Amino acid sequence: MYRATGVVLRTYKLGESDRIIVLLTEHHGKVRAVAKGVRKTKSKFGGRLEPMSHIQLLLHEGRDLDIVNQVDTVESLAPLMVDLDHMTRGMAVLEAVDQMAMDREPNPQLYRMLVGVLRTIAVSDSPLVVPAFFWKLLSLEGVRPELDVCVRCGDTEPLVAFDMDHGGVLCRTCRSGAPISADALELMRMILGGQLNAALAAPITQASHEVSSHATRAVEHHIERKLRSVAVFERH
Ligand SMILES: [Zn+2]
Repeated sequence: MYRATGVVLRTYKLGESDRIIVLLTEHHGKVRAVAKGVRKTKSKFGGRLEPMSHIQLLLHEGRDLDIVNQVDTVESLAPLMVDLDHMTRGMAVLEAVDQMAMDREPNPQLYRMLVGVLRTIAVSDSPLVVPAFFWKLLSLEGVRPELDVCVRCGDTEPLVAFDMDHGGVLCRTCRSGAPISADALELMRMILGGQLNAALAAPITQASHEVSSHATRAVEHHIERKLRSVAVFERH
């Protein structure tokens, strides 16, 4: 038996009445556990095992999958998502973390970032909250993009393109990937340079959308698949 605190990333059905819960825990990394009888109306777990639930659990270590024994709610973040837009952003964050977190590999910083960004999504309307989280997530994974010099020739300007295949920005001569504006580049430098709050407070412009689309593409490049939940909010 062991105790864990974590956020539910996703759940899926198992058999007639059980559900597999995928969690990012503070000290045990990503954990998959079976919640038995959770799909019956009188489940002792109630609604405490929904995606975005921040919970404390007692888990029984199993041979293949751990078994959920007891669940206490730390906070339920889903009701804080006031509308579909906020909820979709929260789901995009869960999906990216689920794709990047390693099974049973402790990553307390990732856990803290996840709880922090979900709380921020609940209170902020900035379209940059999720993209900023994506950039920080990639930095945590060791793939922080180069933003100051051309990744091919080292020139400092003019930097006009962005290509994660090459790891960052490119000058006019070397350009590949997608174009990037000076304003979008400045926003990305703020996000990754310790001025996140200033970036989130900045007025929403075309550059915000550029940063968002680059962030999504960079995460998708890293995980080598598309993020399903992002498609929904990037269309507006
Ligand atoms: Zn160059």
